[in-house]
Amino acid sequence: MVTDIVKQVAGKHGDVEGLMGEGVDPHLYRPTRDDIQKLSQAQMIFYSGLMLEGRMGDSFAKLARQGIPAYPVTELLQQDYLMEPEEFEGHWDPHVWNDVSAWISAVNAVAKALGEFDKANAESYAKNAAAYTEQLTALDEYAKKSIATIPEKSRVLITAHDAFGYFSRAYGIKVMAAQGVTTVSEAAISDINNIVDFVVKNKVGAIFVENIVSDRNLKAILEGAKAKGHSVEIGGTLFSDAMGAPGTYEGTYVGMVDHNVTLITRKLGGEAPEKGLNGKLSLEE
Ligand SMILES: [Zn+2]
Repeated sequence: MVTDIVKQVAGKHGDVEGLMGEGVDPHLYRPTRDDIQKLSQAQMIFYSGLMLEGRMGDSFAKLARQGIPAYPVTELLQQDYLMEPEEFEGHWDPHVWNDVSAWISAVNAVAKALGEFDKANAESYAKNAAAYTEQLTALDEYAKKSIATIPEKSRVLITAHDAFGYFSRAYGIKVMAAQGVTTVSEAAISDINNIVDFVVKNKVGAIFVENIVSDRNLKAILEGAKAKGHSVEIGGTLFSDAMGAPGTYEGTYVGMVDHNVTLITRKLGGEAPEKGLNGKLSLEE
């Protein structure tokens, strides 16, 4: 997601390369030897921040000592915006891209950093950021409108790990997850059991797998509910912490969010166009 916004803002003035590809879990990612080499040859580095890339912190510190600036794109978000989940005490929830309005602030942070680094093209970066922000504003509105069409009692999003806290607050849907805010720690049996009870009691129709986490816990929830006489389906796969395949619509930030919003809305009984906001989705129903 960071690569995509930097590409959008840099436009023709930057040669942008992403290190974490499709389906990669950023919480667990360790840089390879090849990555370190690429990083040490870069002029600038952008990363998400808020300790999302928990195992890359040392590398960024080393690079900073070599004079290569590394910018967290979330740096403009204020403390009163950020959420501090109970089980992640002392740290902010890093999953801010799942609220589009927060990612607009990340676009501005990128434009600011690029403009300061390369003053000659600052105007171009600001212009690109403004054009992209317009697309993101439409996406944010689409998300608000779509999620609101889900019948209130069905407005519950159950996923593999707690990546949708900001999504929940921005778009008005309750979220529950088998694993916490980072995938570093395993799900507790008691958490799974609580979700099973909730699913059965509230007759939840669909739960969602994520592209970066094993579907094991979701399957356990499904089986648990079935054993208690309620059948719930897997609603499909959400792009939680990484985008889809490069070269596809879902391999862009806009496509990723469009996919998530449209799938969640349709599977939980709301109304959204089959092919999403821009008519480009290839959802398998
Ligand atoms: Zn995550």
